Amino acid sequence: MKSSTNATIRNSASGPPQYCVFCKIVDGRLPSYVVYQDESHIAFLDINPFSKGHTLVCPKRHGETMWDMDEAEIGGLFRVAAKVSRAVVTGVHADGFRFIQNNGEAANQVVAHVHVHVIPVMFEDKGRFMGRKSLSNEEMMETAQIIRAALANLV
Ligand SMILES: [Zn+2]
Repeated sequence: MKSSTNATIRNSASGPPQYCVFCKIVDGRLPSYVVYQDESHIAFLDINPFSKGHTLVCPKRHGETMWDMDEAEIGGLFRVAAKVSRAVVTGVHADGFRFIQNNGEAANQVVAHVHVHVIPVMFEDKGRFMGRKSLSNEEMMETAQIIRAALANLV
């Protein structure tokens, strides 16, 4: 069941799903480096990653924040994120990973469609600010392939 609240979360990127960047990725109107999908979820590489392998996991159904999802959907999203994190960490040989899940403009949510960031981290990044990076198309394709292969090997 959805939690009820009178609070609202503001996001200047709010809009109808037909203009949503992630909905466009879900239905193939925008290209992306997809690493995983099932009936209800999709995971693809962040185009400006904090680290190589930085992946976004989304429900396919449009909703702006966690408050637009019911408990089963929230559970499903994090189950998929946990699975994807194993493949990401294995694939890029990371030492750990972060989940970041932003809700609202004040929280730096840039795309108003629920998503979980899976960010692999290395020991050398410990305690350091991680800036956004830009990887080449070849690096992105290679990284997506590595993660897909790691996912295929998960038991
Ligand atoms: Zn959307």
